[in-house]
Amino acid sequence: STATAANTLGHEQSEKLPRGVVIGKDGKPCRSCTSFAAWRDMTRGKARQDAAANDKGSSVAAVTKPPAPRADCPPDVETLGRGTWTLLHSIAATYPDVPSMSQQSDLLGFVKLFSKLYPCWVCAEDFQSYLGKEMPRVQSRDEFGKWLCGAHNEVNRKLGKPQFDCSQWQERWRTGWKD
Ligand code: FAD
Repeated sequence: STATAANTLGHEQSEKLPRGVVIGKDGKPCRSCTSFAAWRDMTRGKARQDAAANDKGSSVAAVTKPPAPRADCPPDVETLGRGTWTLLHSIAATYPDVPSMSQQSDLLGFVKLFSKLYPCWVCAEDFQSYLGKEMPRVQSRDEFGKWLCGAHNEVNRKLGKPQFDCSQWQERWRTGWKD
């Protein structure tokens, strides 16, 4: 997918791993940095190697059909991303129109800490660089919602996804669509 391709841009990965599998800082494959499809290709490749080593033809056949993702697996980069954007845009939606100084400082602190703790490290590093270029705007709900929309669009651009119209962020995340 475009997401997994973008994830690997500029990040070296072992030639033995399928395209899109990102290595974590511990030197092991990073699940929250990798799409389910790439992770599955990697584990299927390993299952094939194990089956070939055991010389069991039936096991080889058993691993050729891609397994469907289970709902209760650890999140891949896309599931984690969707859930996280939902949380971030919902924080923007419930942020006050006129925040106090302490609310502004809490939100700024949260965004900075979030950018250090985000489990997909390649995503986190790019997000930190974005924060360096575009300081979060926390002066009001609409300012923050639009800033966040811009940050999300930057990731969309990197992944080859369509740009979201930021004038509509409140309909998408706060008020619902007028219809
Ligand atoms: P998502 O991008 O998850 O969006 C969810 C919903 O938000 C969309 O359906 C749409 O209704 C709405 N939306 C879309 N754009 C906007 C916007 N600009 N403003 C408001 N609402 C919007 N994945 C990678 O592969 N590589 C990365 O480097 C990477 N970095 C990330 C960094 C961060 C901080 C986060 C939170 C996620 C990152 N992701 C990354 C995950 C990626 O952004 C997507 O979440 C994932 O690919 C799933 O995409 P999706 O198409 O389901 O929609």
